[in-house]
Amino acid sequence: MLKVVGVIGYKNSGKTTLIHALARELTGRGYEVSVIKHSSHHMDLPEKDTTTLREAVKQVGFISPQESAVFWNKSLSLENMIPYLEADIVLVEGWKGGKTFPKIVCLREGLDDDGPDPVKDLFDGLAICAVGPAGQVDGLAVPHFERDEVGMIADLVAEKAFKLPNLDCGSCGRETCYDLAREIVAGSGSVEDCGALQPTTEVKVDGQPMPMNPFIAEIVRSTILGMLSPLKGFKKGKVEIRF
Ligand code: SF4
Repeated sequence: MLKVVGVIGYKNSGKTTLIHALARELTGRGYEVSVIKHSSHHMDLPEKDTTTLREAVKQVGFISPQESAVFWNKSLSLENMIPYLEADIVLVEGWKGGKTFPKIVCLREGLDDDGPDPVKDLFDGLAICAVGPAGQVDGLAVPHFERDEVGMIADLVAEKAFKLPNLDCGSCGRETCYDLAREIVAGSGSVEDCGALQPTTEVKVDGQPMPMNPFIAEIVRSTILGMLSPLKGFKKGKVEIRF
């Protein structure tokens, strides 16, 4: 099952450095790792042609012998972006408001006295650990690590990362995905409680099951059901298609 963890914190709290170190550590352990950076600003693209084109058209694709990219002129949801990634683990940088995955909170010294209270602002029940100067987390029941304890932080990511679908469908008995996410982080709930993540679709090619993440499985299922359901003779139940 796909694992997602956020790395959040204020400016200059070491988020990017930690993401680099974690990506190297987890890749070295054999995981395929992707990173999504979340920002409230425009992307800083040095390539002027691409920037000008992006202002004029709906989408721009970029293909070179070494790399490929697609630029959307709109903000995608995390759930819509994840299916484009080839990853076992996705590290999300800077999505403080995300409520469907656990987070690592990066702390720093020298916060403004009149700024937000970091405990209320950054700890929303989804923190699996805090990294950096410990003073601000005194009394909080989250593990604390120094910035260079990357191996132990990576252990925690491999064990605790998860992603709920953000459907708020209620079929797990909780009102929202956030409710279950907090229970999972606290150790009183399980990702298996999420009915939307149980396998709904099996695709075999030459008899071999194709691995699909739950979002793709749901897209395949709902697309095929959408095409079949208006047809005469369609009934709800198990569907088999062979070609
Ligand atoms: S069943 Fe899954 S998608 Fe639905 S509310 Fe619960 S956690 Fe969210």
